[in-house]
Amino acid sequence: MLAFNLSIDFELGWGELTRVAHDDRFYRRVVRGLERTPQILAALRSIPSTWGVVAGCCAASLEELQARAPDAFHVVEPQLAALAQRRRAYRDVLFCADVVRAIGRAADVELASHGFLHLLPAGVPTVVLRSDVAASVVSLRGIASNLDSFIPPQNYDWPDEALIGTGIRYVRHTPVVCGYAYSDPRRAAKFARLWNDLVSPVSHGGSEHPARLLFLRIDRGARLWERQLRLIRRLLSSEVGSLYLFSHPHNLDAAHLVRRFTQLCEVIGEAAAAGRLTFSKFFRQLPVRQEVRS
Ligand SMILES: [Zn+2]
Repeated sequence: MLAFNLSIDFELGWGELTRVAHDDRFYRRVVRGLERTPQILAALRSIPSTWGVVAGCCAASLEELQARAPDAFHVVEPQLAALAQRRRAYRDVLFCADVVRAIGRAADVELASHGFLHLLPAGVPTVVLRSDVAASVVSLRGIASNLDSFIPPQNYDWPDEALIGTGIRYVRHTPVVCGYAYSDPRRAAKFARLWNDLVSPVSHGGSEHPARLLFLRIDRGARLWERQLRLIRRLLSSEVGSLYLFSHPHNLDAAHLVRRFTQLCEVIGEAAAAGRLTFSKFFRQLPVRQEVRS
């Protein structure tokens, strides 16, 4: 039976602070994606999903973020200052505690951490990364007491030392695509990922069975989407391994995109009804440690 997970990286503008400060189109996509969140939850209906939330979204001010995770805040402070200076309504793309609580209450949703401030690990001391994850767990466990999964921002490979002892046990993996790290910013790596997402997803080298991570290309042209949906149908008929799909609300920021997402959920529902898949947590697991450091 195929192990399956559908995850949503819920992050408002946290994923690209500089872009959301300067790119008006992207700013509007983030706002519209937030507005579509109830429809995305409705489309999922009885399909279990994991929502990796940037826990900073649960705060109400920059001062609160700084108080909760001072060292992590220091890493993104210049970007936040630039955003606040350029966008008077910057809070609209940083904070939405009510929506996070609604996500946490939704049936069949597992809440996960997508970090407290969506830090990228390069150049950041492990102790700071760990404080960011620990702050996110403390914040999100106020909504979902059983939270124990982590989605690394931009799918970077995080050191285990940044996660062990924070309460996190299940991590979304970061496969290597055609020889490139999943998060490699170079152009060639982007083409490799496109190949991965539309033609032939690679397997994760560290697991016994094929473990595939696929970014949903929902907001591209209709033909590309149909092609990816055919690929997903084929993968859902696999008998072993795992298939993990993911997207963001800002990739689902229009009615026709939510319709495509609904179409995907129907395909997943058919495979589940036929007994071809089992809904699973992320396969990468960390050792059990009970305490949460803060
Ligand atoms: Zn992200």
